[in-house]
Amino acid sequence: MSNIAQVIVNIPTRSIDKPFSYLIPPHLQGVDVGWRVLVPFGNRKVEGFVIALAAERPEGLKTILDVLDTYAWFNTNMIETAKWLSTYYLCSLGEALRLFVPGQSGIRTQKAYKAPDEADFEQAAVILENKPVEYSTVLSYIYNQGSATLTELVKLSENTNTILKFFLQHKLIVHSDTVNKRGKSNTTTIVNLAVGREVAALTEQQLPKTCLAQRRLLHALIDNNELTTAQLRDLNITPSTIKKLASQGLITIRTTQVFRNSYDTLCKSATKITLTEEQEHALKAIIPLICAQAHKSFLLHGVTGSGKTQVYINAVAEARRLNRQAIVLVPEIALTSQIIARFQAAFGNDIVVMHSKLSVGERHDAWRRLQLGQAGIVIGARSALFAPVNNLGIIIIDEEHEFTYKQEESPRYHAREVALIRAKLAGAVVILGSATPAVETYYQALNGKHTLLPMRKRIDNVPMPAVTVVDMRQELAQRRRSVISPPLQEMLAETLANKEQAVILLNRRGYSTFVLCRECGHVLKCRHCDISLVYHTSGNTLRCHYCQERHSIPDTCPECGSRYIRYFGTGTQKVEESLNLLFPTAKIIRMDQDTTSRKMAHDKILSAFANGSYDILLGTQMVAKGHDISNVTAVGIISADTALNLPDFRAAEKTFALLTQAAGRAGRGAKAGRVVMQTYNPEHYAVQAGAAHNYQEFFESEITFRRQLNYPPFTHLLKITVQANDETIVHRNANLLASELAQILTGVDSSIVGPFPASINKIKDIFRVNILIKTTDLPNVTLKLTDVDIISRKDIIVDVDPINVL
Ligand code: ADP
Ligand code: ZN
Ligand code: ZN
Repeated sequence: MSNIAQVIVNIPTRSIDKPFSYLIPPHLQGVDVGWRVLVPFGNRKVEGFVIALAAERPEGLKTILDVLDTYAWFNTNMIETAKWLSTYYLCSLGEALRLFVPGQSGIRTQKAYKAPDEADFEQAAVILENKPVEYSTVLSYIYNQGSATLTELVKLSENTNTILKFFLQHKLIVHSDTVNKRGKSNTTTIVNLAVGREVAALTEQQLPKTCLAQRRLLHALIDNNELTTAQLRDLNITPSTIKKLASQGLITIRTTQVFRNSYDTLCKSATKITLTEEQEHALKAIIPLICAQAHKSFLLHGVTGSGKTQVYINAVAEARRLNRQAIVLVPEIALTSQIIARFQAAFGNDIVVMHSKLSVGERHDAWRRLQLGQAGIVIGARSALFAPVNNLGIIIIDEEHEFTYKQEESPRYHAREVALIRAKLAGAVVILGSATPAVETYYQALNGKHTLLPMRKRIDNVPMPAVTVVDMRQELAQRRRSVISPPLQEMLAETLANKEQAVILLNRRGYSTFVLCRECGHVLKCRHCDISLVYHTSGNTLRCHYCQERHSIPDTCPECGSRYIRYFGTGTQKVEESLNLLFPTAKIIRMDQDTTSRKMAHDKILSAFANGSYDILLGTQMVAKGHDISNVTAVGIISADTALNLPDFRAAEKTFALLTQAAGRAGRGAKAGRVVMQTYNPEHYAVQAGAAHNYQEFFESEITFRRQLNYPPFTHLLKITVQANDETIVHRNANLLASELAQILTGVDSSIVGPFPASINKIKDIFRVNILIKTTDLPNVTLKLTDVDIISRKDIIVDVDPINVL
């Protein structure tokens, strides 16, 4: 008989990476794989996840104390997904399973103390005789309360910890930690009539005139079948009134669970839409697979404004028709309120929206609704991928190329990869949608891993906006130094005169980390790696992050001899000032990190702009994304190429995606759109292809570059970051590790690059040095790393398929 449960304890540590066996006590028979339980661990009580049952000898085993739910939280494919995730991304199984639990840390235990069962008060008095008075204060508090938490006790004395230690040593107190189950649902009281309406009406009349509240309650119950806590509160009915009527047998009281629904749904009736030919074609490929319950992934490659959202909605509707559930991932909730609104218009209360602002309790409720099948669709950022849907039919990843899908803390997973695994285990369909797919994804599609579904035309055949590329080197040659070039100024003047709106993007990424010649646009690069050199303030040097070569900063441009070689960067505020000077009457709203730090500020700014309160929306990356505002006819891009100069092999990809997305905001309505791109690199393929709205052209140049220099998708990367609070030690450790790695990886197809200092080489006084492993045999490399137990080392971070390689 399997009376033993193998439990992974939910403790935020990487070093405990094996299940522990616990006895299932008779009163908890029925506990099975997937349950959350409370177990003793050391001298604590912690949450644990049952991952397997076993029939072992029970001798010497500790016993499960309690269950945390009355059902299994994890189904088998959730557990399998977690196992895959922990193997692939080199984290502990506990870390991976935690992703599936709302609030992740699960239950909290609070340190508490009580008197031992055989407490001897006289002896206590003897022991405390020569102790300061605070000792007796603390002890009598515990004895009087029966049990007291540490939080309470620290208020009694400054030496509480010392005092408690003393008490424990002398056995005057024992631990009695209390457990707070987190994320418990609210309950509501519901009151019903226990008698017929006539009887109730008669009773109401017979009640004395002074029993106003009782009469009010009866009256309300005659009109409504039942009343909830909130309604009772509105009627000003107190619990004692309810008790009085209940004791006379006139009403019944029951409590039920309510699940908070914090995202108010404004359910507009969905208008009937005639699909375009391309949408029709895409859905014809997708829907049969949903019906067949077969796993298949699609890359929906549709230009901006081609109607991808409608394809998602119809595919989800099909899954719902078959009573299967959907997970819809968006890059960032704050920037995607339009897509959420459209899903809500189509599905109303069948949706739960996962917000980072939800409390743990709200998150728990939302997930519980999905688990019970009370809701069919979850929409949210990458963490929504771990929602406990038991009947998964489809996963959608909108803007699949966005880097927010990669988690930058452990477990360092990429939502796209995990989605593909989860869907495969569940026999579900995946739709990856983008106008600018990640190079890796498009390459996989060309190789048959995903079915490619192109949508080349905008809705109603609206033309793509006309793009003018302005060569800023020419501007400088003409002695024009303004950040707003004449063509951009002209476009803005016309837009404002026509009462239309403009978006201005200032691409500030990579601000001042590279060195650029303003005369010829030349950027200093490494001779060996074709990657921009990074400026390091410490030592005032330029370094290559791929091969470690160092250079001093030249006084003149090595390409043209100009002395206008300097660090590059312009802030949004400066651009705003220039715009104010040029267009004193225009109303400008700025959206950047300064203006959006408040809750939902993005939304407010975007809707104020969308309803016409402003003429120009100016900002960083975030103005380029997601919105669909028909009166926006002009887009200006101040510095199209800043990202190109990052020492990052994805620099061109990032630039191309941003230019395409930004340009895609223009001319989505009836009026034609225009774009002005200012650049120092007009001949770069990312800029040219971006200006031509030509993904294929970009992809072909990019894939050639990746193949030549052996970057993904032709190899996997693993980034290993070594940390220490001393610069000498960090380098020594990194060098040691690099040679150790070289040794254990002999015979495995791989190469080691580095160690080199991280581009931010010190964070909070911790120095960081990176080592990159390139390999075509990732499973073998991870296996070797697991063998030497590299993941349990606290000073090392392993990032598999890193997005940030700096
Ligand atoms: P994308 O996500 O591909 O950029 P959207 O899904 O935002 O494009 O669609 C662009 C616009 O076209 C939206 O305003 C949408 O409501 C509208 N739209 C989508 N499909 C249709 C259709 N079949 N008929 C008419 N309008 C449509
Ligand atoms: Zn130059
Ligand atoms: Zn180099």
